[in-house]
Amino acid sequence: MEHVIEVKHLKKSFGALDVLKDVDFIIDKGQVITIIGSSGSGKSTLLRCMNLLEIPDGGEILYHGEDIRQHTNINSYRAKVGMVFQSFNLFENKTVLENCMLAQMKVLKRSKDEAKDKALKYLKQVGMERFMNASVTTLSGGQKQRVAIARTLCMNPDVILFDEPTSALDPEMVGDVLDVMKNLAKEGLTMAVVTHEMQFAKEVSDIVLFMDAGRVCEMGTPDQIFNHPSHERTKQFLSRYN
Ligand code: ADP
Ligand code: MG
Repeated sequence: MEHVIEVKHLKKSFGALDVLKDVDFIIDKGQVITIIGSSGSGKSTLLRCMNLLEIPDGGEILYHGEDIRQHTNINSYRAKVGMVFQSFNLFENKTVLENCMLAQMKVLKRSKDEAKDKALKYLKQVGMERFMNASVTTLSGGQKQRVAIARTLCMNPDVILFDEPTSALDPEMVGDVLDVMKNLAKEGLTMAVVTHEMQFAKEVSDIVLFMDAGRVCEMGTPDQIFNHPSHERTKQFLSRYN
């Protein structure tokens, strides 16, 4: 198996608060890892460290065997290890197409025509092609998130990190976004997904990682975690979703 990302003894504190305490796991090529756990357990901080949005205090993160802190160009690293946020992080005053083209031209130095071709390809994949000239402000949350996914795909990422991509959406929008993600998983994209959508986690994950108070409490296949959890904390957490 080819390791895409290796997280080793990762530690991160904010002042006196130890948010990540010795986190270890590996994401192999083509795997979908879902990360579940209570609010405040460190899930977002973990993804943010993997995307260089936070600097770890200890341990290391390797991307194809290399320490990610060696990357002198953060933007080209983030093209490879893309991130999709709960709150979309789109440019609200720009069009859908502009949102999908800007980083391609700036970071990947693609021509305007090439950037537009790619943008249309991925907007089509997420079912948002007909909104290409719409301003982002006019879109629903579910539509915004699908545009945000298309924008990330435009960068030809090797891995995408999703941080609760459906948590800010109205319930009727959640399915569309999860369907897009399921298709990406089926196509073999490597993904790490923080989510509270347990059905999605059961269906799509190769590995489920349960975080508790800054540690990986338990990690295994969906069958192990959901049907045969071995830790009391995992059982307690999952009982809230039944
Ligand atoms: P989760 O995503 O699992 O809800 P987070 O990683 O967002 O957890 O947060 C874990 C803990 O770290 C929380 O107690 C949160 O308040 C704290 N935290 C996160 N980011 C910061 C920050 N930038 N400064 C201070 N505390 C933070
Ligand atoms: Mg979070």
